[in-house]
Amino acid sequence: MRTLVISDVHSNLTALEAVIAAAGQFERVWCLGDIVGYGPDPNECIALIRTLPEVTSIMGNHDAAIMGFLDLNAFNDGARLAIEQQANMLTQESRDFLELLDVRTALGEVSFAHGSPRNPIWEYMLSYSVAEANFDAYDTQICLFGHSHVPMIFIENKPAKPLALLPAHADMWRSQKRFMLNPGSVGQPRDHNPKASFVIYDDEEQIWQFQRVSYDIDSVAERIIKRGLPAYFGKRLFQGD
Ligand code: ZN
Repeated sequence: MRTLVISDVHSNLTALEAVIAAAGQFERVWCLGDIVGYGPDPNECIALIRTLPEVTSIMGNHDAAIMGFLDLNAFNDGARLAIEQQANMLTQESRDFLELLDVRTALGEVSFAHGSPRNPIWEYMLSYSVAEANFDAYDTQICLFGHSHVPMIFIENKPAKPLALLPAHADMWRSQKRFMLNPGSVGQPRDHNPKASFVIYDDEEQIWQFQRVSYDIDSVAERIIKRGLPAYFGKRLFQGD
């Protein structure tokens, strides 16, 4: 079975459509949170994800905030503005979808947590020390995460520090060791590569393949301005930061 693994779509419908087109055939979707926030198309992204096969999705900090589950003062001014504006735009169908998302879940040997297994809503896993502490916070072989918007793998290497990989387009990964994997961000990459990021997991071969795809960033930046969101949210998409 081929599984499309995505995270941090952030209301970027154009990037999500490009990812789905580039992914080829897939029978299942794993979404690691933050479908909303930042971009122009929150309802459209939720509606599209709901049409995909076998979706397992968890809640990110932006999804929780838009539903009123988090204090908005924890967000910077721009992010808060987008959340407030999108909360007003959100349809009942979108609310019904977001409301039912779990903060953490697991399927077989794969756990899901948006930020990190020990703090799924807020913690960024970008350093060895944070990753090391998190290997004890879940009990499956694999944990999928997002939140940092950087495609990355941490590999358990006890008693030494974890190993870290920064995969590029077309890189494949397979391991019997315990590892935590971030597919990167669909809608707002922050690894200085503006292309939308995702992973295809083949569970027969046990292979995780990282992929990048370009999309029409101009059209997204235009819609961001049209919606009255900070123009900076469009500009950063061109730089991938
Ligand atoms: Zn995010």
